[in-house]
Amino acid sequence: MDLITPFDPWHSKLCTCPKKYTLNPYTGCSFRCLYCYITSYIPKAFEVRRKKDLVRRVSKDLVKLERGALISMSNSSDPYPHMEEEYGDTRRAVGLILSRGFRLLIATKSNLVARDVDLFSRRSCVSMTITTLRVEVSDRLEPFAPSPAKRLETLKLLSESGIETSLRLDPIIHGVNDGDIDDVLDRCSEYVKHVTSSTFKPRADSWARVSRAFPIDPGPYSKRGRVYYLEEEMRRELIEKVRKKCDELGLTFGCCREGCPINDLNTGICDGSGLIAYDPEGLKDAVMKPQNGTE
Ligand code: SF4
Repeated sequence: MDLITPFDPWHSKLCTCPKKYTLNPYTGCSFRCLYCYITSYIPKAFEVRRKKDLVRRVSKDLVKLERGALISMSNSSDPYPHMEEEYGDTRRAVGLILSRGFRLLIATKSNLVARDVDLFSRRSCVSMTITTLRVEVSDRLEPFAPSPAKRLETLKLLSESGIETSLRLDPIIHGVNDGDIDDVLDRCSEYVKHVTSSTFKPRADSWARVSRAFPIDPGPYSKRGRVYYLEEEMRRELIEKVRKKCDELGLTFGCCREGCPINDLNTGICDGSGLIAYDPEGLKDAVMKPQNGTE
């Protein structure tokens, strides 16, 4: 496999995701979120680069995957960086993946995803990240990402178009956006069926960026390996708050890498992929050639 690779090949005990693959149509991300973890392993992480020959390479990889496999896009970049508007690489990859009968989970912060509404099907789900609706916070925390209002509007548009959508309320940062949980969930609940959430687990670089911009208290954090964790009791309290609100709003819930057993807090598949129709035949309603604008 070249560009589509197994997600979590190390089978981390913390990961409750179903078996899936990952594809990053671009290298790096232009949204420069302060809490972003990709800076710990991608050189020049905030400079987006196109991937050479993307469509041919994705096409070759798809031939090797089992029918109906779940592909997550993206985990080390946003699949809709600013340059996607000009190049349409992600659009071509989406068209190819869905036209060949695979399942697709898109994780983004961009309203540009709505451009591709004609490509999405019952085998896809769009997971939109919204960490706060206060623009004065998001402007500092996610300085080059589309505004929360645009993201909310996009969720509305997608759900009204019959596309499965979920919300990522992630990360929750103690002292920064932990007071926004109810507000974000109240405003999004009409447009999503599932919520994924997790607390901020920074490495040294993301800790430095966030703590320069916000007066966060390092007291309740401790380091395990290269990662800082908020005290377990505080993490659980925050995650339980999200779960409780989801219960009230009739949304399924999953937490991400908190170490809480799945049967304990999760009421749905953690990443939201439970909303995607599982069609083992895979190709029943697939279009076997790329759709308009995707070739
Ligand atoms: S959108 Fe995601 S990948 Fe891009 S900078 Fe923000 S956290 Fe990192």
